[in-house]
Amino acid sequence: MANTDLNKPAAKGGSFLLESPSLQDVFTPADLSDDQKLIGQTTEEFVLKEVLPVVKDLEAKKPGLMEGLCRKAGELGLMGPGIAEEYGGAGLDDIAVTVLTEKVSVDASFAITQSAHAGLGTVPIVDFGSEEQKRKYLPKLASGEYIGAFALSEPQSGSDARNTLTRAELNKEGTHYILNGQKMWITNGGFADLFIVFAAVDGDKLTAFIVEREFPGCNPGAEEHKLGLHGSSTTPLFFENCPVPKENVLHEIGRGHVVAFNTLNMGRFRIGVKCVGEAKHVLMSASKYSKERKAFGKPIGEFGLIKEKLAELAIRIFAAESIIYRTAGYINEAMRAGEDSGKKPQNAAQVLAEYAVECSIAKVHGAEMLDFVVDEAVQIFGGYGFHEDYPVCRAYRDARVNRIFEGTDEINRTVMILTLLKRATGGHLPIIPAAKEPADETQANPSKEGTPAGVLAEEWGVVAHAKTIFRQALGGAVRRFHEKLDDEQELVGAVANIVMEIYAMESGLLRAQKAAASKGEGAAAVMIDAARVFIADAIGRVDHDARRAIAAVYEGDMLKTQLAMLKRLDERPAVDTIALRRRIADAVQAQDRYPFEGR
Ligand SMILES: Cc1cc2nc3c(=O)[nH]c(=O)nc-3n(C[C@H](O)[C@H](O)[C@H](O)COP(=O)(O)OP(=O)(O)OC[C@H]3O[C@@H](n4cnc5c(N)ncnc54)[C@H](O)[C@@H]3O)c2cc1C
Repeated sequence: MANTDLNKPAAKGGSFLLESPSLQDVFTPADLSDDQKLIGQTTEEFVLKEVLPVVKDLEAKKPGLMEGLCRKAGELGLMGPGIAEEYGGAGLDDIAVTVLTEKVSVDASFAITQSAHAGLGTVPIVDFGSEEQKRKYLPKLASGEYIGAFALSEPQSGSDARNTLTRAELNKEGTHYILNGQKMWITNGGFADLFIVFAAVDGDKLTAFIVEREFPGCNPGAEEHKLGLHGSSTTPLFFENCPVPKENVLHEIGRGHVVAFNTLNMGRFRIGVKCVGEAKHVLMSASKYSKERKAFGKPIGEFGLIKEKLAELAIRIFAAESIIYRTAGYINEAMRAGEDSGKKPQNAAQVLAEYAVECSIAKVHGAEMLDFVVDEAVQIFGGYGFHEDYPVCRAYRDARVNRIFEGTDEINRTVMILTLLKRATGGHLPIIPAAKEPADETQANPSKEGTPAGVLAEEWGVVAHAKTIFRQALGGAVRRFHEKLDDEQELVGAVANIVMEIYAMESGLLRAQKAAASKGEGAAAVMIDAARVFIADAIGRVDHDARRAIAAVYEGDMLKTQLAMLKRLDERPAVDTIALRRRIADAVQAQDRYPFEGR
């Protein structure tokens, strides 16, 4: 199945489930150029110097403060990173935008403000806007003169976004669409100048509109009282006979779902990126505190159970970071494909649709990683972690929403599997032919053929077997439930978990192998430890989900046979994860930071 052929073409979205890329095809943080690193540094410095000192005022919603910060960030090019230079933007590539998004995330409220603007509020115009719309709006969005926002959700429909009650009707003169309805949860609603609004035309044609705050009848409501992200603005948005010029229809009438879902693919990916940025900062604080705080006559950071936590935080961040940079590499490569040959670069929306599964994984894995990180960090801080004077308390509150917005984690789990199945039935990704043969493939003892020797060779075998387990689980599910698989959400969720673990395991594994190949095994030793521990634990989770999935599909003797096959596939190397975690914790504490930065 998997191989290490060094001359394969770039991966297609979802193809990681069937094959392994060569090391040179996988982008890792060690591959960042000096320019990309500089963008990261500039961004981080801005947040540390300009945002963190005023966090309390931001949380108190001091009037004008967040808008002022956005404008300052605009002067540095942080508000329009993905906008082409001809429209006043920084014209950064997708990897540089990823670094910027990660580094802007030291403060979650500023990060969500920036990403609702630079991502959700701007990208629809970049990807779907007419030339006139781009010339009119992008320069103002790039400079921060205009703050953008994205208005899809409504009080009665968030996940079910197509069920919009907001209506748009063309006026008698045929010049304007008249909007009526209510949006809910609009990030930046309190001060945004421009909204991407979704409304139904002629009853059911979901359509995107560019709506300026100044249009009569566009009325943002009062700030919501949220669990976290107190520094960010979230309001409802009311439309009362709001006339929107016909020229402000974005893309086409009835094609709003295309605008929305493609924008959300990008949004999901960036949520994963943001979560990595936030988690690194939390780990830094937790490591410092573990050395300052004493109990029983010594720093708490010397206790094994605290070291274990620090190590685990670093390991989980490592997996999530490996996912996002690998994915950023694919997106960037696909976007630029054809540039050298003089062909037009691919449309961003098409590229993001290609990597929709990876974008959903980045989001769900990142959000769940961050929730784990902030929870354990609060534990390291003890009672002080529960006190508002300590930033980890704010990080805990701020993290929770990542599992909810940009498609809840439940929705994203189903999106992953349904997207894969759609590709399979469309003949783009041969998972179903492969999935129909699990018995042939696994009745024999799992083959070790093709397993490369060297660093993490045993773990490579584990990942390869996990891919077979995926096909066993999905194959059984498809054969049993056919097109009714949608209704078996728990089963779909279990298979989605396996998909995520495979991508995470393999991304960390390839990154550690690549680091060892370029810097030597000794220099990459701690990263290799992190990959080994992650894989040792992840395969246990894969086994758990595969058992659940298989038991939901088979019964009687067939169930026993399938479980016996699973057992044979679930052969694991013996790993002393306690000893490895101690070494990883030492590396964290030696620098009080995430130990694999830029590596
Ligand atoms: C702080 C914040 C900022 C936000 N910013 C924006 C913004 O800028 N623009 C915008 O448009 N929206 C925004 N949102 C809205 C956000 O996208 C929605 O809250 C989210 O999509 C979930 O929708 P909902 O709240 O209606 O929950 P619901 O859709 O009612 O979901 C409730 C629960 O049911 C589950 N569920 C729903 N459908 C299914 C299903 N088919 N299968 C399984 N489970 C299901 C969900 O996973 C969830 O657990 C924001 C929300 C918050 C909290």
